[in-house]
Amino acid sequence: MGRAFVHVILGGGVAAGYAALEFVRRGGYSRGELCIISEETVAPYERPALSKGYLLPEGAARLPGFHTCVGANDELLTAKWYKENGIELVLGTKVITADVRMKTLLTATGETISYKNLIIATGARALKLEEFGISGSDASNICYLRNLDDADKLVNVMKSCPGGNAVVIGGGYIGMECAAALVTNRIKVTMVFPESHCMARLFTPKIAEYYENYYTSKGATFVKGTVLTSFEKDSTGKVTSVILKDGKHLPADMVVVGIGIRASTGLFEGQLLMEQGGIKVNGQMLTSDGSVYAVGDVAAFPIKLFDGVIRRLEHVDSARRTARHAVAAILEPSKTKDIDYLPFFYSRVFTLSWQFYGNNTGEVVHFGDFTNSSPRFGAYWVDKSRIRGAFLEGGSREEYEAISNVVRHKAKVINIAELEKQGLMFAIQE
Ligand code: FAD
Ligand code: NDP
Repeated sequence: MGRAFVHVILGGGVAAGYAALEFVRRGGYSRGELCIISEETVAPYERPALSKGYLLPEGAARLPGFHTCVGANDELLTAKWYKENGIELVLGTKVITADVRMKTLLTATGETISYKNLIIATGARALKLEEFGISGSDASNICYLRNLDDADKLVNVMKSCPGGNAVVIGGGYIGMECAAALVTNRIKVTMVFPESHCMARLFTPKIAEYYENYYTSKGATFVKGTVLTSFEKDSTGKVTSVILKDGKHLPADMVVVGIGIRASTGLFEGQLLMEQGGIKVNGQMLTSDGSVYAVGDVAAFPIKLFDGVIRRLEHVDSARRTARHAVAAILEPSKTKDIDYLPFFYSRVFTLSWQFYGNNTGEVVHFGDFTNSSPRFGAYWVDKSRIRGAFLEGGSREEYEAISNVVRHKAKVINIAELEKQGLMFAIQE
């Protein structure tokens, strides 16, 4: 049993949705020539909603409300949209092997799907505690968060213990966003992570202090610089407490785990070049095979702004842009220059909202008011007298654009003390 397509997008997440949109915009295929194969049972959706709108106690986001590409361009790519545009959605279908030389994919249902061009958009999977030697994370009240099923479980578990205790493992993006959502749902939160402050890979201690104080003012507790070692469970197998390295027990009606991800490269190990834990591509998002492209979380691609250093970014803006770039490169190779991407990360928790652009390397220069409950503060990272990265909490659209511009243009810094004094005005006046 088999089918053949000209273009196959493997994976049905954020990148897949934006790749499909780009195919339609460019009109670069005929009906029936393009398909998306996804293990998920629904059309591509905006994954960031799962740790934000999806977890709201009232007026929560639900599909079809947040399919791609809502918010980005007002077009909502529902299953109907794919049908109308002649794109085959092969949903609920896991690809179990890929043969790059033969240009075929084998699905768990036994179907062989062949392609002329393949776009790998398999994203990533959440790391499990078992991978750190801790067992029992399959308990009914332990939640991970990567897809819709995980989000539904999280919502149900949350609803089963109103006013209860949650232990959040990990101080990264999932930990911070889920902790805020749990607090909003009136659940008492204790966050546990090994670093000395939250969001350690991006935030400076000073930035982290602001958010930690804010969370504390909302009732959250931080247990930093340690890890859990095991769980205590009741006779039904439900976790009742989390046991830390120092033997301390934290009571838990539920646990949320966000300890990082692993790019889903497995199908292509040994067939394509890998780097940074992902599939290595060039500035056209082309892998080491001339018919195979990789985009989104799974792709390690050159960042021109960082002198061509290869990076794998685990963020939605990068997924959207790399996906569209790959389609442009497939359909109009001679007109498509190498991608010139400015790394962009953001988060929204409670009423707070921050954006970051570039690279957090070099000397840090903080600016703004770190004491206000309606804050507007930030930081620049300066290396070799040039701005390399910029962070801003509470900015307006124009202000975010201004900080992105100084990073994009590597604005020259003549005097660090002057930069500190000017703060945000430095970016606005540039
Ligand atoms: P994904 O969206 O993960 O899609 C991968 C798809 O491939 C999935 O549909 C998966 O089922 C499918 N797949 C994988 N293997 C197979 C296979 N063998 N066969 C068939 N299908 C397969 N980023 C931000 O910048 N801002 C945010 O606020 C933000 N919030 C987030 C909140 C949550 C809860 C999560 C989990 C992530 C968030 N991110 C955020 C990160 C962002 O969502 C990812 O960077 C983005 O989804 C990556 O897109 P992708 O298409 O590469 O991968
Ligand atoms: P992150 O990499 O952001 O954070 C993982 C955190 O868990 C780190 O603080 C890490 O510490 C810590 N950790 C690792 N191992 C353990 C352990 N054994 N016990 C306790 N803590 C541990 O990953 P997340 O899981 O938070 O997020 C998953 C993905 O989702 C990421 O790709 C992220 O980009 C994406 N996402 C993005 C959002 C956004 O951009 N706004 C929102 C939500 C998710 P260490 O650094 O020491 O390893």
